[in-house]
Amino acid sequence: MMIAATKNTHKLKEIDEILKPFGINVISVEEVGLSHIEVVEDGNTFEENSMKKAETIMRLSKKDAIADDSGLSVQALGGQPGVYSARFSGENATDKENNKKLLSMLEGVSDRSAKFVSVVSLVFSDGKKISVRGECSGKIGYEEKGNNGFGYDPLFIVDGYDKTFGELDSEIKNEISHRANALKKLKKELEKINNYR
Ligand code: IMP
Repeated sequence: MMIAATKNTHKLKEIDEILKPFGINVISVEEVGLSHIEVVEDGNTFEENSMKKAETIMRLSKKDAIADDSGLSVQALGGQPGVYSARFSGENATDKENNKKLLSMLEGVSDRSAKFVSVVSLVFSDGKKISVRGECSGKIGYEEKGNNGFGYDPLFIVDGYDKTFGELDSEIKNEISHRANALKKLKKELEKINNYR
C-alpha cells in the first residue's frame, strides 16, 4: 500500500489503474487525512518537485508515498510550459485557459513537436527513495479534440496514433503515456529491491 501525494483525481486514477495490475494498492491523501497539505512546487525541475511532494507526504503520514510531477514540453517554445504546465496562464488557471494560451503561442508555428514528461518519486517510510522519468512524444494540434483525460490531452496528438489523448480511451493512454512509462520503470526498480506489496 502507498499513498499518492496528489489532489489531482485524474492522476490518482491513472496511477491506481497502472499500478493495480502489479498488486500495488494506492490510496489518496484524503483517506489519510492529509488533503489540506499544500506542497509548494518551487523546484526548477520535475525531479525536485516530484521528490518534494513524496517526501512531504511520507514525513507526515509515516507511510510509503508516491508522487508524480509532470508537464508538457514544447520544442518550438524552448521546453515551455515545462514545470509551469499547471499554471501556464496564471495561478488557478483552468485547463481550457492553458490550452488557449498554448494555441495562441503556437499560431503560425509549423514545428508542433512536443513531449509529455512525468517524474514519479517513491519515498519509503524508512527514507529510501526512488525517482524515475517517463516521456511520451507527439505534436500539438490546431484545435482541441476529445473529452477524455485532462490538461493538455485534447491538444496532444500522440506519436503512432492519429488522435489526441483526449480522443483515445483511457486504457490506451494508460499503456503509452509518460506516466505509464515512468511507472513501468518504477516497477522494474521495485522488482530489483524485492517484490513490493
Ligand atoms: P503538476 O500537478 O504540478 O505535476 O502539473 C501537471 C500539469 O501538467 C497538469 O496540470 C497538466 O496541465 C499537465 N499534464 C501532466 N500530465 C498530463 C496528462 O497526462 N495529460 C494532460 N496534461 C498533463
